[in-house]
Order: sequence, then structure tokens, then C-alpha cells
Amino acid sequence: MKKTVNIFDKLKATYHEQVMFLREQVSGLKAIVAIHDTTLGPAIGGVRMWNYPTEEEAIEDALNLSRAMTYKAAGAGLNFGGGQTVVLGDPRKDKSEALFRALGRFIDSLGGRYIAAEGVGTTYEDMDYIRMETRYVVGIPSSRGGSGDPSPMCAYGVIRGLEACQVLRTGSDDLKGLKVAVQGVGRVGSIIVKMLLERGASVTIADVDDEAVKRVTEAHKVKVVSPDEIFGVECDIFCPCALGGIINDETIKRLKCSVVAGAANNQLEQPRHGDELHERGILYAPDYIINAGGLINVTDEIYGYDEKRALRKTAAIRDVLYQILVSSREEGIPTHLAADKLARQRIEKVGRVRRSYVSS
Ligand code: NAD
Repeated sequence: MKKTVNIFDKLKATYHEQVMFLREQVSGLKAIVAIHDTTLGPAIGGVRMWNYPTEEEAIEDALNLSRAMTYKAAGAGLNFGGGQTVVLGDPRKDKSEALFRALGRFIDSLGGRYIAAEGVGTTYEDMDYIRMETRYVVGIPSSRGGSGDPSPMCAYGVIRGLEACQVLRTGSDDLKGLKVAVQGVGRVGSIIVKMLLERGASVTIADVDDEAVKRVTEAHKVKVVSPDEIFGVECDIFCPCALGGIINDETIKRLKCSVVAGAANNQLEQPRHGDELHERGILYAPDYIINAGGLINVTDEIYGYDEKRALRKTAAIRDVLYQILVSSREEGIPTHLAADKLARQRIEKVGRVRRSYVSS
């Protein structure tokens, strides 16, 4: 018998505010917009375009990603809630101007309750089409007055996060002499490598893409290992900058590092892998805290992009992460749980403060 999804039960369990299903006939747009929590402000979240095998999987993805975004924005001290759009379709074949403009018109009809950004399977060109129909989209190229590529800001935030880990471990934020293994040297990873070398660290890299490795080795003095070997490199910091799910049953026992801290999203395959890192005495910098620089950068567009302000806000990742690491140590809980707690507390406190009436 076919299993049915009870969407309202799901929304109740995950505390979602709203889920919308869009269908536009001319462009063929099929999309889902999920809004998780708008206590702190309008929901922000990427537009992911993916060929989902089933509609259930598309819904699941929209719910998971929008919830994660609530925590990420709250943890970064931003006044945004969590949202997510998933567009059902093949990003290589099904994209068109009409499709993204149709999505843009729908987003506009929400009056600012949801703000879109680039996501997996979409590009800033797609955001440009959305921008033709609504101002509620961020991640516009710098040539058109937007914030441009968020990768450098994301990388800078990761470096600030590494400093926080060092302060906790040694009392000093100096990265000089540290051995760092960087997995994935794409847009963010390659900048992290450069910044680490400038700070006197030594770096080992791995990437499945030979071209990416070549670009880094031509510019910098680094050691290269295979994508499989990177997990077992003896180092102070393992810095994941490739895909999610890389801290799992298989890889965790191979790690020979004191710290896991990097840019990749969803590093823990399951939350229990965060518990296991904690039990093994490996300090884990929760991914959504340390990699928030990209989000901080794009959301700054809402106020009229100012790079200096975005840099200042990104620099604060060090203090937020340090606070989380200290509370994890004091309470004896894994760092990923300490991060969730901090984000929840901020939402709760701000939500309660905003209950009182003020005339506008
Ligand atoms: P990217 O695609 O430019 O780079 C990822 C690199 O990882 C690529 O070079 C790819 O070949 C490599 N890679 C893939 N699988 C690998 C494997 N198994 N072993 C080794 N290398 C592998 O992506 P990016 O923009 O640099 O983002 C990297 C990570 O950081 C992603 O998880 C992304 O979601 C996250 N992130 C990026 C930003 C940003 O501003 N770009 C912001 C927040 C989070």
C-alpha cells in the first residue's frame, strides 16, 4: 500500500510556520517554499533546484533546510528567520527566464516574509531573473550593486572560527605553526589555504578535481594527498570544505586531529557523530556557526551592501563560537548541542521581548 505523508503532523513536529506549493502553467514551475520560523525577522533561504526522485523527498529537503537556516541566522546574530525554496526539476535542462520570473512573482506576493538567495543548482544569473520581479532576493553580483561572491567572507569567518578554537585550547589565537588538512579546495577552501599560509600554518590539501589541486599548488607551497588519505592526515585541524556528511561512522575513527572546523555545510552525517567527536576529545566547531560568513555577506544587501560592515559582523563569529565552546565545556555537552541551545535561546528571548506593544 502506498505510504501517505501527513504534512500537518510533520509541520507540528518540526515547528514550521508555513509551507507553500507553487505551480505555474506557462513556465512549468513546480516549487515548494517552506518558512520555518520568523521570530527574529523575515525568513531567508536558498533556492535549490534539484531533480528529486519523489515529491516527498522535495518536501523533506525544504523542511530540513529551512529549519537549519533558522538556527544559522539566529546563531550568527542576524535578524532573519529560516526559509527555503526547492524547485523540482533538472538544473541542467529545465531552467528558463520564465521559470525564475514566475518564482520571483510568487516570492513578491509574500511581501517580504521570505527572502530568496542562491542555492545548490541555482546561480546568480537565476537570482537576477527573480530580481526582475521582486526586491526580496539577495546574492546579486557586485557589478549590479550586490554583495557578489560570498566565498571570501565565508573563508574569513572560518579563519576567525579557527582562532576561537585556538583560544580555547591554548589561550592564544595564533595559528602559526599549526598543521591543517583542508578537504576540498574550491571557492572557499582555496581562500582558506591562502589565509592559513599567510598566518604561518602548514597545509595539506586534497580534492577530487585535479584542476582545483593544480590551481592551489601553482600558487602555494602545500602538501597534496588523495581524497581518501586526507581523513588520516596527522594534523591539529581537519578543515572540511567539500561536501556534507563527511563525519560519519567510517571516517571518524580515522581522524588524527584535535579539531574539526571548516566551511562545509552539514558536516555531521548524524547528530550522534557530533556526540562521538565530543567523546573522543575532538573539538568540533559547529558548521552553521563557523561558515556563517557567506550568509552574513549576502544578507547585508538588505541594508545596502557595505563590505566593512559585513567584515565586522563576520569577525564576530570568533566570539560567538568561543562562547559556544566554553558553554559546551562548562556544561559537558557536545558543541553542536551547545550551538543549537544558543540559537534557540536567542530566538526565545528576542521573541519574548518583542511581545510587548510599541506604537509605530
Ligand atoms: P566548491 O564547489 O567551489 O568547492 C568544493 C570543492 O570540494 C570542489 O573543488 C570539489 O571538487 C571538492 N570535493 C568534492 N568532493 C570531494 C571529496 N570527496 N574530497 C575532496 N574534495 C572534494 O564549493 P564552495 O563554495 O567552496 O563550498 C564548499 C563547502 O562550503 C560546501 O559544503 C558549501 O555548502 C559550504 N559553504 C560555502 C559557502 C560559500 O560562500 N561558497 C558558504 C557557506 C557554506
